[in-house]
Amino acid sequence: MTKIKSVRTRVWNWKGPTVPPTGNFCTNASDTLWTKGDAMSSFRFHQWLTVEIETDDGTIGIGNAALAPSVVKKAIDDWYAPLVIGEDPFDYAYLWEKMYRRTHAWGRKGIGMTAISAIDLAIWDLMGKLVDKPVFKLLGGRTKEKIPVYYSKLYAGSIESMQAEAEEAKKNGYQGYKTRFGYGPKDGMKGMRENLKRVEAMREVLGYDVDLMLECYMGWNLDYTKRMLPKLEKFEPRWLEEPVIADDVAGYAELNAMGSVPISGGEHEFSIIGCKELIEKKAVSVLQYDTNRVGGITAAQKINAIAEAHQIPVIPHAGQMHNYHLTMANANCPISEYFPVFDVEVGNELFYYIFEGDPEAVDGFLDLDDNIPGLGITISDKHLHNFDIEE
Ligand SMILES: [Mg+2]
Repeated sequence: MTKIKSVRTRVWNWKGPTVPPTGNFCTNASDTLWTKGDAMSSFRFHQWLTVEIETDDGTIGIGNAALAPSVVKKAIDDWYAPLVIGEDPFDYAYLWEKMYRRTHAWGRKGIGMTAISAIDLAIWDLMGKLVDKPVFKLLGGRTKEKIPVYYSKLYAGSIESMQAEAEEAKKNGYQGYKTRFGYGPKDGMKGMRENLKRVEAMREVLGYDVDLMLECYMGWNLDYTKRMLPKLEKFEPRWLEEPVIADDVAGYAELNAMGSVPISGGEHEFSIIGCKELIEKKAVSVLQYDTNRVGGITAAQKINAIAEAHQIPVIPHAGQMHNYHLTMANANCPISEYFPVFDVEVGNELFYYIFEGDPEAVDGFLDLDDNIPGLGITISDKHLHNFDIEE
């Protein structure tokens, strides 16, 4: 029997060049406050956590987390690593429950569930490597020839710059395009007009034969969103994403019930029961958990079954291998989000600088290799000079 021998955690702090985002770049949860200074500070993630789990035969599984990496590292080192060391990685469902129940008083959402997710990803990567199969082949296999992807960037800026970016992206023939709003409740009617002008400008370039997704990143509130929805309807958005803060499930349900634009969310929801609530309360028309937050692949597969039974499509937040494998293996995951390779801006791009193996989209699709075992990523040393690494 293979046993887990060690758990190594590293926090990667980016110190390389960055593209500074402007004030009206993307609304976020701090945006409804009248805070002076840097409104974008809660929307920058220049740290990442890697978790490497080694078994006694020398196989290493890689997991990762991008939420509060230094705090998640401490939680893993102090609490979660001792719970899995000495165990058989193939007992993954037991290990998940053990981590979940032993830390239930404080760990079931947020930092704790992010730590569980990172370890669970490493365990799935390990299992794939140990049986010499890609993870998606352990989850149900290939449900689509290739994965269609949508382009996710188009942060708010000048209309000219956004249209130029959309023109450029269009050349790759993506299945859809997601843009971010730059204005929220505190910007009043003038801000509403600015938001609407940009959505119209996107349709002008992209036309109406592709999906257009709209992202609020929790920077609006219920009242503002109720006023915006009828105005957005004519642009036929595929969805409006995270209009209000993640805890306001009733608010999501109210907006979704308006029926004017499908509401999406879930990237800040945790665990099977958290997602069950979003589904059962009809809070979202599209569920967007992120596998490296929601509870890893073990939880995600259970959530997928609940969502499928309710006919709610699952389109995980962010690209990245842990999400691609689930999308490939589930017929109810129709498309993947795709962050183009780009200079470090928000921080979503960092995984391209830490890992190697993420597929690049070609003509609006990407594919996973049938012959690469595990998740198919390795930790790169190409950009080491641009990181401060905490062991
Ligand atoms: Mg989002």
